[in-house]
Amino acid sequence: MYNSKAYSAAGATAPLAHTQIKRRDPTEHDVQIEILFCGICHSDLHSVRNEWNSVMPTVYPIVPGHEIVGRVTKVGLAVKKFKAGDLAGVGCLVDSDRTCPNCREGLEQFCPSMTMTYNSPDKHLGGATYGGYSDSVVVDEHFVLRVPANLSLAGVAPLLCAGITTYSPLRHWGITNGKKVGVVGLGGLGHMAVKIAHALDAHVVVFTTSPSKKADARRLGADEVVISRNADEMQKHAGSFDFILDAVAAEHDINAYINLLRRDGNLTLVGAPAQPFAVAGFGLIFGRRSLSGSLIGGITETQEMLDFCSAHNITSDVEVIPIQKVNEAYARLLKSDVKYRFSIDMASLKSE
Ligand code: NAP
Ligand code: ZN
Repeated sequence: MYNSKAYSAAGATAPLAHTQIKRRDPTEHDVQIEILFCGICHSDLHSVRNEWNSVMPTVYPIVPGHEIVGRVTKVGLAVKKFKAGDLAGVGCLVDSDRTCPNCREGLEQFCPSMTMTYNSPDKHLGGATYGGYSDSVVVDEHFVLRVPANLSLAGVAPLLCAGITTYSPLRHWGITNGKKVGVVGLGGLGHMAVKIAHALDAHVVVFTTSPSKKADARRLGADEVVISRNADEMQKHAGSFDFILDAVAAEHDINAYINLLRRDGNLTLVGAPAQPFAVAGFGLIFGRRSLSGSLIGGITETQEMLDFCSAHNITSDVEVIPIQKVNEAYARLLKSDVKYRFSIDMASLKSE
């Protein structure tokens, strides 16, 4: 074991603060990574504040962070994919049983015994796993991604969660040339959905509560922008969407979006507010519409997404911050005041 610098929260109302954690020495199949950037996902905030208590209670102290890019510092003897000096990425998953039907299909995110990057039981050290708000991490090579060399690292970090979480359902629901796709919520996930759907040649419509984001939405690749609080603007799109991706982090009315789907259209939820949704059955029944969820993506698909982003020159629009500003960043995230992802420059941890 060795010591690693990190930022952790001691409880649901405590701020994140500097701490030291233990990391395991790399075993045969492990890759040790010096973390260079880590994105701030709204899931980090939900978890730190224990908002998902009823489904995934938070174990404290928590070290969040699952949008990790860095450089390999050491590899175990059996590691084939990486060598010291390589760029590497880690997303939301660091282990799974690899034998269940989900794992065999490359859908490790649905493995009943998957290990998440933070707040999961740590099979090696006991306690809970610690995430990427840290200067170093050790991960089995199967769960480490190759990072394309042509993209800016600060902007690549958010691809490891926001990128794959939006890429996966867009691919699963067959989004191609000319499909009419809605993206609800222009935050970290939403802005990645716009870029990726645009690169897939879809007709992209952004639904936002923030009129100030209108011009940005178009710059990011939207063909149309709707202010979702304007009922008339919403009504113009009734019954017209093939697919809508809902990436909102707070309670809101999803029936308004179900009604915008065409026959057999699908609304997929990736946003995960803690409160249950009220769904009007008739909205689904008339039009044989469907409502689904989607969880990140498997490792093979995450690599595919990174390679897709490399080929299309896609990264996240980031505001790079030192880790000392993380609590301020959380407060701004709650006000939808980030364009469009915070990416922590982990060099800032060195001064702690
Ligand atoms: P984010 O950056 O905070 O973006 C959320 C966006 O939702 C905001 O920018 C805002 O967009 C909109 N919004 C916020 N409050 C709203 C309200 N009261 N009513 C309507 N719209 C509102 O968050 P994120 O990191 O993208 O994450 C979004 C959600 O996805 C979170 O719940 C997160 O936990 C979840 N998530 C799920 C997965 C998965 O695998 N399913 C993976 C990662 C994250 P506008 O300003 O444009 O309205
Ligand atoms: Zn995330």
